Amino acid sequence: MMPAHHRQWTRDFFRLVVAILAGLATQTMPAEELLDRMDSQRPKYVEIAAKIWRWAEVGYREVQSSSLLADELEAAGFEVQRGVADIPTAFVAEFGQGKPVIGILAEYDALPGMEQEAVPAKQPLKSNKAGHACGHHLFGTASTWAAITVKEQMAAKKIKGTLRLYGCPAEEGGSGKVFMVRAGLFNDCDVVLHWHPGSENRAGLETNLANISGKFRFRGKAAHAAGAPHQARSALDAVMLFAHGVDLLREHVPQETRLHYVITNGGNAPNIVPDFAEVYMYARHPDPKTLDGIWSRIEKCAEGGAIATETTRSLELVGNTANLLPNDALARLLDTHLRAVGGVTYSAEETQFAETLRPSLLRPELPPLTEASQVKSVSEGQRYGSTDVGDVSWAVPTGGFSTACVFPGVPMHSWQAVACGGTSIGHKGMTNAAKTLTLATLQLLTEPQQVAAARESFEKRREGKSYQTRFPKSQGPALNYRDSGVAP
Ligand SMILES: [Zn+2]
Repeated sequence: MMPAHHRQWTRDFFRLVVAILAGLATQTMPAEELLDRMDSQRPKYVEIAAKIWRWAEVGYREVQSSSLLADELEAAGFEVQRGVADIPTAFVAEFGQGKPVIGILAEYDALPGMEQEAVPAKQPLKSNKAGHACGHHLFGTASTWAAITVKEQMAAKKIKGTLRLYGCPAEEGGSGKVFMVRAGLFNDCDVVLHWHPGSENRAGLETNLANISGKFRFRGKAAHAAGAPHQARSALDAVMLFAHGVDLLREHVPQETRLHYVITNGGNAPNIVPDFAEVYMYARHPDPKTLDGIWSRIEKCAEGGAIATETTRSLELVGNTANLLPNDALARLLDTHLRAVGGVTYSAEETQFAETLRPSLLRPELPPLTEASQVKSVSEGQRYGSTDVGDVSWAVPTGGFSTACVFPGVPMHSWQAVACGGTSIGHKGMTNAAKTLTLATLQLLTEPQQVAAARESFEKRREGKSYQTRFPKSQGPALNYRDSGVAP
């Protein structure tokens, strides 16, 4: 065995060589030094993420969360435009000028009814408060952290180009980015990078599902449910017929279709026939055109429900997002940097937290916790979620990746994900994401051939096709979409 001081010397020498090589490659501060510096800044960004996690503001209501990130960027020297695309909680922070224009996406909305403390046991439901079950507090914070770090490097090394951070509200159902794309905010952008918290470290070459969502509302006539039922027309009956129609429809749609709904208003009391009822419906499919056809059949279910119950119906389109267009060149680039940064290893305390939480998960064959320490290889295929990053990816070459912010086996949109996101388990994944974004953005700013390769991959995958949202020009974002069940 080597004496300790020899080992230290060897390690230092190796780090120096790596640093010089990395420094030559990116013409900026050596990567090792840069990453060490980011480690020293970690407490500051953990505090920001913890605040956003605690506030847990839902889509289009992210007043404090978006302000906090925008303020940080402004203080760091970015020019910040707030309230872009007619959305109060959307913003664009910019630094530098000229080409290339590299954008980083940030999200910060929480999910309704998902409140949970950072403890490994489900808490009794005390309120209907929101919670960060998709880790967007980490998403927004890591992206902001990366943007500020890259900006410092640009200023110090006189790197040319424009760096932009897009503050994107209401990813969870509100389609915030769709309206930002429509407002032309991405028109001059060369490349966009994003990431997402998950249970593994992996650069993404996968696609997902296009999505249409909306609220079907029915109006009837109220009367005493026992005394004068013949004088009433039940809006709830219309919702139930609609839902039954959708459930039968499941058998007659293509295999990859996903249909789900919640009844957001089913009346107030059993002895009043409800004169208002609302159902919030989602439909998804890999192909937007096929999805359009499925959605028109869902509208027929609503029509049928209304006819049979002699109620009237209306539909508010709430969300519509494209399937993600993967980018081969950017997936390779992100994979390289993700590998340089590495995975996550858990401390004894974090392992204890994970082991306490594990029995609450339904999956019998949970992967080992050590999986989080690996960076998995880029894989192509179909995923079954949706995101409004999809619309961005059809407008600009877009690359993404995930880092382990919950331990392996924890599904997103669960109370377990909220719990992990409030601990150092989530903060470690966030740090890795910030580092990966930083290294990748610096390379894109300094190597024009990387931007060109991203464009080439984009054109190849696009095959001359383009994507157009079904939101009519006259319709803006549904800023009140989280006020579910309230008759407008
Ligand atoms: Zn998400």
